[in-house]
Amino acid sequence: MTIHFSCTMCGRCCNGLRLPVGVDEAIAWLRGGGDVQMFCEAIPWPEDPAVDNLPAWYKHRRSFSATSGQLPLRVIVSFMATFEGPCPNLQPDLRCGIYERRPRACRVYPAEVNPFFQVDRAGKLCPPEAWQAEGILQNDDGEWSDPEVAQAVVGMREADARDARVKARVCAMLGIAMGGLSNEGVVVHAPERGRLLAALESALDADSAVGDTNAGWSIVSNRKATLELLRSAGTVSLGASEVGSEGISYMGFVVGDSE
Ligand code: SF4
Ligand code: SF4
Repeated sequence: MTIHFSCTMCGRCCNGLRLPVGVDEAIAWLRGGGDVQMFCEAIPWPEDPAVDNLPAWYKHRRSFSATSGQLPLRVIVSFMATFEGPCPNLQPDLRCGIYERRPRACRVYPAEVNPFFQVDRAGKLCPPEAWQAEGILQNDDGEWSDPEVAQAVVGMREADARDARVKARVCAMLGIAMGGLSNEGVVVHAPERGRLLAALESALDADSAVGDTNAGWSIVSNRKATLELLRSAGTVSLGASEVGSEGISYMGFVVGDSE
C-alpha cells in the first residue's frame, strides 16, 4: 500500500526525544556537549535460529554475544542522544541548525529502519495532515520514495551491524552488564559524558580485543513469571526495582508485578 506523507515542519519530532544514533554520531553528539544514554536489551540465544528466520538474523546482525549464568545471549545496545524539551539544534523558525550533518535517524523519520516493521501512523508524532499530503513516503512495493530516506535507512542498518562489536567493548570498558529482557523492557545506562566519550574513542581502536564476547550479564524483568523462567534457565536475573542506582534505571514496556 502506498503511504502518502509530506513533512509539515511542525517540529514535534525534534522535541523531548531519545534519538537513536550510531557510534560515529554518538561521538559527535557528546563532543558537542550533548548527552547519550545506552539502552540495553538481552535476548536469550541458546542456539542459532534456522537460516530462514530472517527477523532473528536481523537481531543477530545488530547485537553482540554475551552470557548470563549458563545461558548464551545476544545483547542489543542502542545509543540514544537525549534531550528534554526542544533539541539543542532546533532553531526558532523550527529549522534544524545542523541540517547537513543531522543524525541519520532525523533523515529517516517517520520511515522505519527495521525491515520487519510497518509504518504505524498512530505511533508517529506527525499531524494528520502530514499523512494526507500528495507526497509519497513508501511506494506500493515497500521502497522508500525519497532517495535520501532510503539511503539513511541503509546507513542506519549498516551502522547497527558495524557498531555491534564497538558497543561490546564499550560495555566491557564501562562495566555495563545489565539488560532488560528483550520485548519487555530495557535497562538504561547513563554514563557520565566524558567517561562515555573516552570509552567510545578507545573502543573504536580496531586492535582492541576487549569485550568481543561479554560474560556475566544480568537480565532484568518487572514480571515475576518471567523472572522465574529466566532463573530456571540458569541465568542471573534481577527484578526491575533491584537495578536502581545512580545512572541506571529500568524502562518497562509491559505492566509489571515483580519486586
Ligand atoms: S538534530 Fe535537527 S532534525 Fe534532529 S532532532 Fe535535532 S533539530 Fe531535529
Ligand atoms: S513530526 Fe513529522 S511532520 Fe512534524 S516535523 Fe517531524 S517529520 Fe515533519
